[in-house]
Formats: sequence, structure tokens, C-alpha cells
Amino acid sequence: MNVLASLDNRCPGVRSSLEPPKPVHRPSRAEAEQAVITLIRWAGDDPDREGLVETPARVVRAYEEWFAGYREDPDELLQRTFEEIAGYDEMVLLRDILFVSHCEHHMAPIVGRAHIGYLPRNRVVGISKLARIVEVYARRMQIQERITAEIANTLDRVLQPHGVAVVVEGAHGCMISRGVHQSRATMVTSRMLGAFRDRPETRHEFLSAIDLHGATGSGNLFP
Ligand SMILES: [Zn+2]
Repeated sequence: MNVLASLDNRCPGVRSSLEPPKPVHRPSRAEAEQAVITLIRWAGDDPDREGLVETPARVVRAYEEWFAGYREDPDELLQRTFEEIAGYDEMVLLRDILFVSHCEHHMAPIVGRAHIGYLPRNRVVGISKLARIVEVYARRMQIQERITAEIANTLDRVLQPHGVAVVVEGAHGCMISRGVHQSRATMVTSRMLGAFRDRPETRHEFLSAIDLHGATGSGNLFP
């Protein structure tokens, strides 16, 4: 089951949530570990038993990795661009960029992949930067719609290309492991800007290049 959600400028909910998160007061590491102890007790286990003693420290370290995106500036990542492109004006496409994010409703993992295309206007960015931009937004508490829109908007704002296309496929841990228990459902979101939005043939070229149906059909993102 695929849910195709197309995000465009007429989607006010997504637009309004694109503001960067406000800086917050961060608790100390000890306070964060204490919160994990509380959750272990809430689950019904004994935080002092041998197997769990180191768990709060490990969880807090894992949080530093999973949510590292709050400490990075996506615009800065894209600052270094290359202008010697010998008149190259065709689509640049990077597909199957794997990511792990966490849904902001349950803090459960979202495992997915992103596909990015853009039509350069005089300058390109190193392809590793496209993967990094996905990572910066994925490593925050997210909804998939916002990851998709933020990637597209950032590329559009910083590179000012003729167009940007972003498609994200995600399997949501909160849906697989609880609630409706939909273990095979994949959510697909997209955002098309500029030429990808205005010219059906450009959009079609992108969509056939990423071979969306082949990708989702090849298996669950949670192996
Ligand atoms: Zn969720």
C-alpha cells in the first residue's frame, strides 16, 4: 500500500512548519539519563538489573547521533558550489539516498530513501552534499512530509536552480509495530518546484529515472 502525498505550495500545514526549530534549553546528560530510567520503570522493568544498568547512558549517546541534525546548518552545507560545468544544463539526479529519521509523534524510527533531482542554473553542488542535506533533516524529530519539503526548499533557496524534485519513501516504525500494524505500508511524498512542477515532461523524466515502482516493489525498507 502506497500513500502518495504530493506537497506543494498549496499545502499550508507543511509550509507553516518549515520555520527552523527554536533553540531550547538542553537538560544535562545526567537529567537525560534519568528520564530514560523513568521510561524503563514505566515499561515495567528494573533499571538496576545488570542488563539495563548501562542502558540510560547508551540511549543518550544514541540520541546524540539520531538527533545530530539540530546542530547543523543545512544552508551552510551547500555554500560550496562549482561553476565550471561546461554548459551542463541537464538534470542532476541522486537516487536511493538511505536515511533513518524519527517521527515526532512517537519518536519511532522512520527508515527510508530519498531521491533528489535538480536542473542546475550555472552551478552545481558536490553530490555528497545532497546526501548530507537529507541526513541533516532526517536527524531531527520529523514527519515525512516536512523532510521532503525542507530538502526541496533548501536546495531551491541556496542553489536557485531551474527546478528541484524530491521524492521520499518511508516505512514508519510507529505504524509497523503498533496501532494499525501495517508492516508493508510505505509512504511516498514528493515536492516538485520550478520546471519539475511546470513541465510534465521534466517531471516524467525524473519519475521514470527514479523508477519508483521498482524501488518500492523490491521489498520492505525494514529488512
Ligand atoms: Zn509516529
